[in-house]
Amino acid sequence: MDVNRDFTSEVAVVGGGPAGLVCAIALKTAGVEALLIAPPAKPDHRTTALLAGSVTALETLGAWQACLPHAAPLKKLRIVDDTRRLFRAPEVFFDAAEIGLDAFGYNIENRYLMAALEARAAALNLPRIGAPALAINPDANGVAIDHADGKVRAHLAIGADGARSLARGAAGIGTRRRSYPQTALTLNLAHDRSHDDTSTEFHTESGPFTLVPLPGRRSSLVCVLDPSRAAEFAALSDTALSVEIERRAHSLLGTMRVEPGRGVFPLAIETANAFARARVALVGEAAHVVPPIGAQGLNLGLRDGATLAEIVADARRQGLDIGAPDVLARYDEQRRADVTSRTVAVDVLNRSLLTDFFPAHGARGLSLYLVDRIGPLRRVLMREGVTPAASQPRLMRGEMV
Ligand SMILES: Cc1cc2nc3c(=O)[nH]c(=O)nc-3n(C[C@H](O)[C@H](O)[C@H](O)COP(=O)(O)OP(=O)(O)OC[C@H]3O[C@@H](n4cnc5c(N)ncnc54)[C@H](O)[C@@H]3O)c2cc1C
Repeated sequence: MDVNRDFTSEVAVVGGGPAGLVCAIALKTAGVEALLIAPPAKPDHRTTALLAGSVTALETLGAWQACLPHAAPLKKLRIVDDTRRLFRAPEVFFDAAEIGLDAFGYNIENRYLMAALEARAAALNLPRIGAPALAINPDANGVAIDHADGKVRAHLAIGADGARSLARGAAGIGTRRRSYPQTALTLNLAHDRSHDDTSTEFHTESGPFTLVPLPGRRSSLVCVLDPSRAAEFAALSDTALSVEIERRAHSLLGTMRVEPGRGVFPLAIETANAFARARVALVGEAAHVVPPIGAQGLNLGLRDGATLAEIVADARRQGLDIGAPDVLARYDEQRRADVTSRTVAVDVLNRSLLTDFFPAHGARGLSLYLVDRIGPLRRVLMREGVTPAASQPRLMRGEMV
């Protein structure tokens, strides 16, 4: 439902990427008045590996049915040490059946995920201003948000406006950020052999090279390279790039044909110093950016949205001010352990690949060896990957907010 005038709402969600849409839909289904301030999404050729908890949340919100025909199950994960170093780890194989699951999750092109979420938001008559927020001014009683066509007033603003968040700055929240000397080249491709529902991550000296299944004989690729090499690769013809990727994949999936649409993403890690403050709560990349390793980014972002919607809905049921400092503190506290543990794990793994520090290679090799050999350890890791102990909001357990 488009809105083009001054508007008052309990919550204003700034940003209509996947994290913002899921949070807004969750709030709306819980009976909270929510307004989206979101310009139309830009075309995106990337895919997202959604872990089981995220899939359950989308099912519960009524958005998964539209995703399913476009999503490929991730039944097995394989890690291959493709470095040429002295200490090389054994190949490690994770099978979802070992922990009683059909699949760890599903991989889907972002355009289909976004279309499903947009359709669900429209079906719920979620009010939407299709222009960006220009200024966000919190005060003691609420938040005033200026956009091109007017003003919005809300008790709480949710900053789902991505890595360069206006909302985060408006709340006076700083970040800790580090850039990596790496760029991710992304594309989708067709191949001759079946991927057998298996995602394969080759660990190389420049970072992971990860093939993730799509429906049919197609996969998505995230290839992490040093920036000059990524620029060279991005400039290759389709034919030359297909040959190079097949070589790097050791012809695992046979002959490859890259599809139109390549992306280039410089890698960084960034975490907000607080996830909520001054009537502004942050979700998704406004709160944390992690490199695309181990499919953590949006899965964390969806847990942010689900947790925040739950806390806001509970506060409202108790007749509390949903933007009050103690409500926001609860959100910050509930997200801290999950975000920190995932961010540190991804950072350590990535840096162990980049470093020339010999003992770090040994430690990584030994860790993967132990994971390969010790079944209970492997199963604990798999369960923690799919259903993190630190964060299981109701939506991720299949319950309504
Ligand atoms: C190469 C790559 C591969 C990845 N693969 C995976 C994966 O397999 N699994 C996974 O979980 N994660 C993955 N991620 C991470 C995932 O893509 C991000 O976590 C996710 O896209 C972030 O979603 P978001 O909604 O927080 O932000 P965004 O998608 O950036 O959306 C933010 C939105 O806010 C809007 N906006 C900005 N400013 C304003 C404003 N002032 N007013 C209103 N709107 C505004 C923007 O237009 C945009 O639509 C990957 C990331 C990369 C780079």
